[in-house]
Amino acid sequence: MSPDKPFLYQRHTGRSLTRREFEEDVVERVRGEVERHSMFGPGDTVLLAVSGGKDSFVLADVLSRIHSPGKLVAVTVLEGIEKLVREREAALMKRFLRELGIEHHVVSFKEIYGVTMDEIVRRSIERGLSESPCTFCGVLKRRAINRFARMIGATRVATAHNLDDEVQTIVMNILRGDTIRLPRLHPRAPRLSEKFVPRIKPLRKIYEYETTAYAYMKGYWFQAGICPHVDLKPTLRTIVRKIIYAAEAAEPGFALRFLEAVDRIAEERLGSIEGLPRLPVCRICGEPTSYGREICKVCELLLKIGVPPTG
Ligand code: SF4
Repeated sequence: MSPDKPFLYQRHTGRSLTRREFEEDVVERVRGEVERHSMFGPGDTVLLAVSGGKDSFVLADVLSRIHSPGKLVAVTVLEGIEKLVREREAALMKRFLRELGIEHHVVSFKEIYGVTMDEIVRRSIERGLSESPCTFCGVLKRRAINRFARMIGATRVATAHNLDDEVQTIVMNILRGDTIRLPRLHPRAPRLSEKFVPRIKPLRKIYEYETTAYAYMKGYWFQAGICPHVDLKPTLRTIVRKIIYAAEAAEPGFALRFLEAVDRIAEERLGSIEGLPRLPVCRICGEPTSYGREICKVCELLLKIGVPPTG
């Protein structure tokens, strides 16, 4: 394709962009968001949480252009889902990160918790538990990444959540009546525990169709497997996603304007978090837990499936 030919019609701006213009646009918008919220500085070591999916490729590619070389490290968590074959994605990611000069580590549920996701699902079904596999997976993965970040001395954890993910999460919190969480989702929300390495989402203002197009344009394209444990029932997120897509189709730029409006509201309420006490620590593992809870969610879930939690 000729480099001057339009590559992408950017619905929310009404512009047709060539490959070069689109690439520059994405990099500059991420840079703008990183600077606006001081997501990291030259002294920070940023741990990229990379699954191997297209958004994590985009995260690594864009951040390698805007952060100092040698200050980016990446980790992939292997859940242990036989049919998902994450190892293939992890190998692809390792090769790509090597070209960018980013050190890549791989850790697994098996080595950290002693069980794979497949074993967790089997135990959960045997015990008739109501928690979905994704609840186990999400909670255990967040803990694994945070602990790994602390272990290597990373000062930030960057995840590849895009604009669509971020807006869905905000709408879900509002629909559940959990408006307290809104300021906590803001990029400048203060930390409630020294044990949490601050999490940043540099792609939070980039639409999913843009991360898909960026990955495709750069040749990072492969058929991702479908997880056998994915919840096939329509979840709140599925319903919210459909509503947001319909709103975006009728009013291009809706999701972006919505996130900017929520950011402004959250900024006015950041003070309400600053006054909160530090989070208590779990009496089993010593990691932070929610207010009023003696045992953290990770230990609670592991105990439910009969796996002894470790400190
Ligand atoms: S679909 Fe659920 S269980 Fe499967 S990898 Fe994703 S979060 Fe984990």
